Amino acid sequence: MSEIEPSDAASISDTPNLSDLSQRDKPWDKHRANADKVSVYYADSEFKDYGDRIHYCSEFLDFRLALSESDGVMKLKLDSARFCRVRHCPVCQWRRSLMWKAKAYKILPKIVNEYPTYRWLFVTLTVRNCQITELRSTLNWMHESFKRLTKLKDFPAIGWIKSIEVTRSKDGSAHPHFHCLLMVQPSYFGKNYMKQSEWVELWRRCLRIDYNPVLDVQAIKKGISPATLVPELLKYCTKESDLTGDREWFLELTRQMHKARTVATGGVLKDYLRELEQEPEDLIGKGDELENEADEQHLYFEWKRKHKKYKLAQ
Ligand SMILES: [Zn+2]
Repeated sequence: MSEIEPSDAASISDTPNLSDLSQRDKPWDKHRANADKVSVYYADSEFKDYGDRIHYCSEFLDFRLALSESDGVMKLKLDSARFCRVRHCPVCQWRRSLMWKAKAYKILPKIVNEYPTYRWLFVTLTVRNCQITELRSTLNWMHESFKRLTKLKDFPAIGWIKSIEVTRSKDGSAHPHFHCLLMVQPSYFGKNYMKQSEWVELWRRCLRIDYNPVLDVQAIKKGISPATLVPELLKYCTKESDLTGDREWFLELTRQMHKARTVATGGVLKDYLRELEQEPEDLIGKGDELENEADEQHLYFEWKRKHKKYKLAQ
């Protein structure tokens, strides 16, 4: 290794960045920089402990250099890091989503194999925006309504995965909605077909409201894997620009979402995908694409807060 002092400001700009050495690890800088923002939001609040944990989240990344089996190129593969696991930590939220997606990509083809004639829908269920202080009660009401929906005899799905997304509107209100991947009987595209207006009617009845809620239904074409919807289904719960946009909103989001479960599975899909309901144990991604581990070489990167970059540790 070189003799450059890491504290030397002039030399640090010459130190290689993780983002330059590994294309696929570029997102680290953005997520870690956003983690710094929310850590500061928490610092002078009742969630000071979260702030401290996020501050130290993934400050050091240990990568191993490994030959990729797919294209024979040397790649950096994360080997270890310490994650804070605070729900709204942008780094941990990102890692959690990656792990859930990997799980879904692995399992969905098996389900398609076992239920080859079944079809898939991607449905987004919404209600009118609420105040952020009413988010918890609104989500509880939506969950109850969804439960009612799944028990109706007109409900066409025999299995589902449902995830919560909460976005922040310009006026500061919250927009909670559910993304649902539904596995429906083959007869759905025949005698049991439901038009969009019928879906709205059904959801309205379950919500027990007097307005027509906004609802989107997409049918996944025959022969197309439901896995194509996984990125939309298992992304973040709240996008990072909304997490970092307003301190008070963010703190209230934390209060309102405390212990709320963001992904749920049901019907026949529960047996395959119930793991998605839990925090993944592994946020590193061990076990996938394992390469030759003999004479492995490690590279270490350190979060440089001022530079907003992970830099090679000297
Ligand atoms: Zn974290």
